[in-house]
Amino acid sequence: MPLHSRVYSTEAIVLRRTDFGEADRILTLFTPSYGKVRAIAKGARRTTSRLAGHLEPFTRTQLLLATGRELDIVTQAEARERLDMLRDKLWYATGAWYCVELVDRFLEDADPHPRVYRLFTNTLRLLEDGAAQDEHARSWLALRYFELHLLDELGYRPALHNCAGCDTPLRPEENGYSAELGGALCPTCSRYAQRRISLPALKVLRLLQTTEWEALPRLRLDEGLQDELEAVMQGSLRFHLDRDLKSWSFLKHV
Ligand SMILES: [Zn+2]
Repeated sequence: MPLHSRVYSTEAIVLRRTDFGEADRILTLFTPSYGKVRAIAKGARRTTSRLAGHLEPFTRTQLLLATGRELDIVTQAEARERLDMLRDKLWYATGAWYCVELVDRFLEDADPHPRVYRLFTNTLRLLEDGAAQDEHARSWLALRYFELHLLDELGYRPALHNCAGCDTPLRPEENGYSAELGGALCPTCSRYAQRRISLPALKVLRLLQTTEWEALPRLRLDEGLQDELEAVMQGSLRFHLDRDLKSWSFLKHV
C-alpha cells in the first residue's frame, strides 16, 4: 500500500477469498503496483451489496481501498474483465488455479511484481481462449510458458544454453538437468544431475524462454516429450518452493 495515503485505487485480480463473520469476505488480491494485498470486503456476501459480483476469482477488477491496520478495506469494486469460461471447463479452471497457487506461494505480501502481474493476467486470458476453443495443446504450452517466465522474473532463470555447472556451451546431444544447480548440465557435469534432458525438450524450453508468446510457432509435442517437460519444470518449481504443489497433482488427474 502507498505510504501516507489513506485511500488508493488499483486494478486487481482476486487470488483467494474466504468468508468472514456474517457477510464479509477476506481477500488475497494481486495488484500490478502493490503486489499481493490482503483486504476485507465488508458485507460482500449480501446480495444487496454493491461489491457483490465484482470480487469473483479470475475477475480483473478496479478497486478503491482504504488502508487498514491489518487488512485494507475494499470501499468500491467494479469488474472490468470476467474470465467466466474457465469455470465450466475443469482442466482449464484447474490450470488457472495452478497459476494462482504459484503466484500466491512465490510472492510475499506487498512485494510489487508488475511484470509477473502482466504474465499472470495474460496466461489467464490464454486459458480462457483455450477453454473457449478447446485448444488443449496451446493451453498446455501456455502453462509451461508461465512457469518458465515466472522463474525468470523471480530471478531463477534456468540455464539452457550453457552448462549450469561449468558454463561451457551445451552441445546438441542428451544433457543433464539439475534444478539445484540452476539448469541444464553438460555430460561431464551430469553426474551431479537429478535427471536427463533430451535435445527436443531442451529446444522447446529454449524456445519458450527466448520467444514472446505471440511469436511462438504452433508446436505439436508428443506425450513423452510433454511428460518430460512437465517433469523438468516441476522439479525446478518444487526446488524453489521447497514443497509440493497441490493443484498440480489435481491437474494431472483431470
Ligand atoms: Zn558442465
